[in-house]
Amino acid sequence: MAEVTAYIAIGANLGQAQRSVQQAMQALGQLPLTQLLKCSSLYRTAPMASDPSQPTSATGPDYINAVAAIATGLTAPDLLLHLQALELAAGRERPYPDAPRTLDLDILLYGSAQMDSAQLVIPHPRMAQRAFVLVPLAEIAPALVSAAQLAAVAHQSIEKLLPSTS
Ligand code: AMP
Repeated sequence: MAEVTAYIAIGANLGQAQRSVQQAMQALGQLPLTQLLKCSSLYRTAPMASDPSQPTSATGPDYINAVAAIATGLTAPDLLLHLQALELAAGRERPYPDAPRTLDLDILLYGSAQMDSAQLVIPHPRMAQRAFVLVPLAEIAPALVSAAQLAAVAHQSIEKLLPSTS
């Protein structure tokens, strides 16, 4: 089986967000053909709009964020389907863009693949604008994030909560 290392951003800001993120990490390691390689610490961040021109669209409690590395034999589209099933199982609803969420799972990187379809864009198009992605990613994969990228998001507040468990 050809395995690819993929990086998954995990976020939650409703319910027991910290617990949801930790459970999602474990669930990633139980996906078919998949092993959990590394988990970042948990971080707390303020909600951020997905469209910077609509800065007030993101509301709700602070997010708990983390990034996990997995080795997977799933294709990227199959991986996305499994992540969406985990989001649904965690009770996720999508009433409007940037709504608070019980669990959000995004594929940041899938090996060195570049994809751009209606369902899937990889590398994730907004990862470079987000401290809540770059800081935990740099923690577990420092070679993948440059000092310039971290400097570009240094104004965004992000607080480390718990050390990584693996
Ligand atoms: P969200 O509401 O933030 O979870 O966005 C989910 C939507 O983004 C889904 O319709 C996915 O098909 C799409 N999408 C595009 N690229 C990605 C990616 N790299 N990871 C996760 N979802 C993606």
